[in-house]
Amino acid sequence: MKSETALISPSTLTISSSIESAQLRNESASTESHVFNEMRPPTAAFATLGCKVNQYETQRILERFEERGFRITEFNRVADVYVINTCSVTQAAERKSRQLVRRLSNQNPDAVVVMTGCYAEMARIKSETVEEAALIVPNPDKLSTLNHFLQAYPQFEEWLKKAPAPPTHLQPRSRHGRTRATLKIQDGCNVYCSFCSIPYTRSQMRSRPLDELLNEARQLADQGFRELVITGVLVGSYGEATGSGGADLAELLAALTHVPGIERVRLSSIEPTQVTPSLLNAFAENPKLCSHLHIPLQSGDSQVLQAMNRPYDQDFYLNLCETAYRRIPDLAVTTDIIVGFPTEDRAAFEQTLQVVDTVGFARAHIFRYSPRPGTPASGFANPVSEAEKEARSQELSERCRLSQQRFIGRYIGAKLGVLVEGKEAAGGLLAGYTSNYIRVQLTGGSHLIGAVCPVHIIEPAADGAIGEVE
Ligand code: SF4
Repeated sequence: MKSETALISPSTLTISSSIESAQLRNESASTESHVFNEMRPPTAAFATLGCKVNQYETQRILERFEERGFRITEFNRVADVYVINTCSVTQAAERKSRQLVRRLSNQNPDAVVVMTGCYAEMARIKSETVEEAALIVPNPDKLSTLNHFLQAYPQFEEWLKKAPAPPTHLQPRSRHGRTRATLKIQDGCNVYCSFCSIPYTRSQMRSRPLDELLNEARQLADQGFRELVITGVLVGSYGEATGSGGADLAELLAALTHVPGIERVRLSSIEPTQVTPSLLNAFAENPKLCSHLHIPLQSGDSQVLQAMNRPYDQDFYLNLCETAYRRIPDLAVTTDIIVGFPTEDRAAFEQTLQVVDTVGFARAHIFRYSPRPGTPASGFANPVSEAEKEARSQELSERCRLSQQRFIGRYIGAKLGVLVEGKEAAGGLLAGYTSNYIRVQLTGGSHLIGAVCPVHIIEPAADGAIGEVE
């Protein structure tokens, strides 16, 4: 599963590459008074570290606070409650999770800092304490964070009873201005890749019923969302055996494309062995399914894949991509790759470079391996040095950058549909994505936001392309 950044909505914050980027404003914490005041509703702010599943779950937690009467505030403002949905996918993610809890607690000593998510679970497993967290909600209970919170702090119940309802224009503030919404369809992973701690923190396999997902999709369409990004821990496991009520993934995706107002459905990530012929057929035949498959490679070397306990080899991956390209017009294949796995020597790393060149990834997320306590790989000998990991990461990034450029270059002069998402913070250009996940910047008025516009792709740009609305 991959971990990535997302747009920052007004009221939630996704922590990306560094805590520094969280832009916690010391000045706001120190200059705003934070006092118990029964004449205003209590305020809550939310932050997410890690993957799209976490982002989705934070949104659900936030909505429950909002429905209960809390006023949702920006994360970098003073709030009465901070909820941090943490990540444990790497050592760095755990460190950032701890740092964020501590920093918030120190900056806002009157606030209640609540920690949940994968690191909350991992901390319990490793018997680590994060004293600055006033309340830790176990990961499996995270969607009930509000209940845990109100049980631990009943005075907020009293406060909510006395406070006036928040202005209706603030509800649902968290979703305004967005054109893409994530839809989590399942939870849990039972693959047990040797490097990954997720099956230990999210072991229960559960698919959400089709009807429930269609209802949520209709609500999202009513709120103005045009694209659904289908997410989960192991989305390819979606099916009857784990609670879908009968539908498999291909059937679910097809059903979602029929929801009025939904123009696109994008799959966020799927394991190679779960890309079935029926799924490829669905993508080939349904223009509302985005021409984009994110298929984690992790390594291009078959022996490293075996040591990772990944259930495929290099040939399988290459054949899969070849078939997918043949079946799906204009397909973008994006991926995740780990460098510096303990059994990855130079020759194995070069196999990965070779696969990158052969597949022609449209985008790649590169992670430097770090051992996760309790996983089989953490006991492997001969780890690759940090300096070597850094060198391989840079070499691979450059190779992936060239691959992305080649992919985008194929579309210079072409006309593609772009779902316009909003204005860039710098420069004021509009920006959005094509079905095959090319980020396009273009000029035009705000009335285009939320529409799929026909756009001529004019020239490449950093991390995307420049286009012109037809
Ligand atoms: S165990 Fe493997 S498939 Fe499961 S979440 Fe981790 S990396 Fe993904």
